[in-house]
Amino acid sequence: MTSSPTSPVAVLDSVFGYDSFRGDQAEIIDHVVSGGDAVVLMPTGGGKSLCYQVPSLVRPGTGVVVSPLIALMQDQVDALAALGVRAAFLNSTLDSRTSAAVEADLLAGRLDLLYLAPERLVQERTLRLLDRARLALFAIDEAHCVSQWGHDFRTDYLGLSVLHERFPTVPRIALTATATRATHEELTSRLRMEGARHFVASFDRPNIRYRIVEKQQPRAQLLQFLRTEHPGDAGIVYCLSRRSVDQTAEALRAAGIDALAYHAGLTEQERAERQARFLREDGVVMVATIAFGMGIDKPDVRFVAHLDLPKSVEGYYQETGRAGRDGLPATAWMAYGLSDVVQLRRMIDQSEGSEAHKRSQRSHLDAMLALCETLGCRRQQILRYFGQDSPPCGNCDTCLEPPAGWDATVPVQKLLSAIIRLDRERGQRFGAGQIVDVLRGKDNPRSAQADHAALSVWGIGADLDEQAWRAVIRQVLARDLIAAVGDYGTLVVTEKAGPVLRGEERIELRKPSGTGAGARSRARGSGERTAAAALSGAEAELFERLRAWRARQAKEQGVP
Ligand code: ADP
Ligand code: MG
Ligand code: ZN
Repeated sequence: MTSSPTSPVAVLDSVFGYDSFRGDQAEIIDHVVSGGDAVVLMPTGGGKSLCYQVPSLVRPGTGVVVSPLIALMQDQVDALAALGVRAAFLNSTLDSRTSAAVEADLLAGRLDLLYLAPERLVQERTLRLLDRARLALFAIDEAHCVSQWGHDFRTDYLGLSVLHERFPTVPRIALTATATRATHEELTSRLRMEGARHFVASFDRPNIRYRIVEKQQPRAQLLQFLRTEHPGDAGIVYCLSRRSVDQTAEALRAAGIDALAYHAGLTEQERAERQARFLREDGVVMVATIAFGMGIDKPDVRFVAHLDLPKSVEGYYQETGRAGRDGLPATAWMAYGLSDVVQLRRMIDQSEGSEAHKRSQRSHLDAMLALCETLGCRRQQILRYFGQDSPPCGNCDTCLEPPAGWDATVPVQKLLSAIIRLDRERGQRFGAGQIVDVLRGKDNPRSAQADHAALSVWGIGADLDEQAWRAVIRQVLARDLIAAVGDYGTLVVTEKAGPVLRGEERIELRKPSGTGAGARSRARGSGERTAAAALSGAEAELFERLRAWRARQAKEQGVP
């Protein structure tokens, strides 16, 4: 490749083999080629890379790309080399001799693109090296990493503001697929890009069908979903923990599905091999933690499934955005339940970090919960979150099968007063499972009488079944009327509950859908063992403690 001036379209064709630009690419590239700064918000798969690769080839000098993905730099450089582009990277994985060779190439003008890890770039030594090189541009990929309130913060990104002062004449282009107004504003100011032109692409991915089902038996539901809707398709299944990843992959393999596990507990080589199989072969299902996926470019991922709730809408949108990059129909499927809400709230409460940071994490989670519980169009809600207005889409579960709402004011009042009275009358706080049992008046027969007599709220909610109560608690948790606190996620009432208790506020909730494999097959109301099995670990533990407590009470009061 020579660095003589050529047009972007010529480069697109001769180097990349594409015949036309997509969306805003042409405009963005023209702007950067002529020396302007740009902030680019474009969904995953939108084609952000070309926005800095083409200008790097068109402008004289080397394009310096900052990327947080050390693990993928090699892949990107290899892919470019295969196209005849002179690309290299500098990061902590290189030995000093290789680094020195790359630096010599840079200074001699033999590089079209140089990928750098942010911590490397901000070192004074690197900055001095760049001072002596001819630079085409700086590209800051995954620029949302500079946002402290975002979902992917990297300390090293903060140092990138220095580029503005050190290299005022080199154009900068910041790119991200995260586009909430807050992240957008924060990255613009932190990178000192107030003077840049902003390109905000539509975040709609119309070919993705969003579906969120109530979590009953997540693995059975997943299997049912895969068998009925995506047999033989490639896809990604996200789980929160490594253990859950391993177990889910195992369960899918046992059911004859070509599933691989992927998480940070594997060796680098295992991960590379599995990733390569997923990319190369047809119909592989990757079961993974969120460690998998950033920068993965596989066009025919037909579904992304979540067995656990993502921590934010940004995270959910990015992860689901890995489906259907080829524009053909794809599904984003998620199983979501009460235990997710309890668990994630608890993780935030118990995390280290400042109160302000926790507040921000809570508000991210609340937006995610609101998406799960919405009675309206899911896509509309996602796009609104990214600052985009749109009509109902007709291609999400709530559009296709509008969920029924119901006036849950009275049940919610019962729930709130049960929590308050149990605390007052017993000095005891319970987790969700126990509150449901109290509301439904379900008890261990041996200790029953002692409790029945004592608890004024016993059985006041016998008109709703267990699943309905769990849905009520989940949604009320999502709306912050109650909170789950402490190691065991015991429920307490928040100040927001006041108006509801006083009858000043009506509560409309989503009717439990009852769809999904688990709902029909599960034997409901068949005794304590079934109920306990459906509870999360922490809840089950509390359940046991409650039983022991009841037994003790019964003994003390002389009930046989
Ligand atoms: P992003 O970084 O925005 O997630 P990529 O830059 O990785 O997206 O591009 C996603 C895919 O789209 C890649 O396979 C890329 O080659 C392809 N692509 C991008 N722009 C074009 C284009 N103008 N024509 C054809 N394919 C394109
Ligand atoms: Mg990218
Ligand atoms: Zn919709």
